[in-house]
Amino acid sequence: MSTELLEIIKDDIRKNGPMNLGRYMELCLSHPEHGYYVTRDPFGVAGDFTTAPEISQLFGEMVGAWLADLWIKLGSPTEFLLVECGPGRGTLMADIMRATKGVSGFHDAARIYLMEMSPVLKDIQKQKLEPYDTRWIDGLTQLPPLLPVLLVANEFLDALPVRQVVKANDNFKERGVSVAADDSLALIDVETDEVALDTLPPKILKAVQEGVFETSPVLNQYMKSVDNLLKKQHGAALLIDYGHARSAMGETLQVVKSHKFAGLFDTPGSCDITAHVDFENVANIALADGLAVHGPVTQGQFLRALGIEHRAERLWAVANEAQKESISTGLKRLIDTEQMGTLFKVLAVCHDPLIRPEGFDEDL
Ligand code: SAH
Repeated sequence: MSTELLEIIKDDIRKNGPMNLGRYMELCLSHPEHGYYVTRDPFGVAGDFTTAPEISQLFGEMVGAWLADLWIKLGSPTEFLLVECGPGRGTLMADIMRATKGVSGFHDAARIYLMEMSPVLKDIQKQKLEPYDTRWIDGLTQLPPLLPVLLVANEFLDALPVRQVVKANDNFKERGVSVAADDSLALIDVETDEVALDTLPPKILKAVQEGVFETSPVLNQYMKSVDNLLKKQHGAALLIDYGHARSAMGETLQVVKSHKFAGLFDTPGSCDITAHVDFENVANIALADGLAVHGPVTQGQFLRALGIEHRAERLWAVANEAQKESISTGLKRLIDTEQMGTLFKVLAVCHDPLIRPEGFDEDL
């Protein structure tokens, strides 16, 4: 199956010339037949990587509390869209719903929409969210109009294709993928275009430093559609991912298979490919779109501010030995600096500058 994708990519390059890295990443992850996410459930010990909601229920409980608080701050609307982008196994949404059961009126008001491209994961989400009335969309434009929105995306932005612009000798080129003489895939520098250049922040354009800058026109487009939705329909978005608080030169693209790093050209379509998210860029897009921005803060700061340690203590008090162990290790993985606590960042955007979402007291 994956060798088929390799041949498809090579044919494309032979016909159209080298493809930029963003296009390569997009084909590897989301080719409609052979793409990585389209063909498998990648999570857990038996899979390729693990995410926060899969590590501990505490994560979804904190996100649920955040959403419920924001819903109240929005005036407890009797109907609103509860949207998740890239919901994986549906674990986060299931935990959000469990955690908000006691919030009077929240479940009755929530219309759940999941934006997911993988048929395999959609099936798993359907099972997990069976008790709730859930709908699936391919893009945000399919959401019903008028109703306010609370949107959450965990480890979704890092899966959007990035391009690598290379600055050398005061010139910008771009990393591309070509077919080498021995018929294998190879990286080469190609001419870049306005689509990529227009996304470069002024400080990178002006930098004397040479190097690689990662940019994602797809992510920028996605952010603009989130912003438009929030401006038109009101509400907030909570974005959680690994990445950096400030735009900077550097390569972060990573390929992962069975919890280990792999090569960019190792069986395309069978490895996860992600890049760190540039949260300054995300914040700047939202600010330019006229939205209020909170954060980024680290995941550790955010979860602590929401009371994750108190919640863990309460669960611990009534747990058996095995459960105690899993609560403690789960908590550590989510908030410790050496684990996900610092690398992962949290950013919120909201249509109303007067609303103060919880968890963002100390901006980075
Ligand atoms: N949020 C989940 C899963 C993160 S993995 C968790 O924390 O466990 C990324 C998820 O985004 C997967 O569900 C993948 O299928 C989905 N995805 C990636 N690119 C997408 C796109 N362009 N449109 C919709 N879903 C996408």
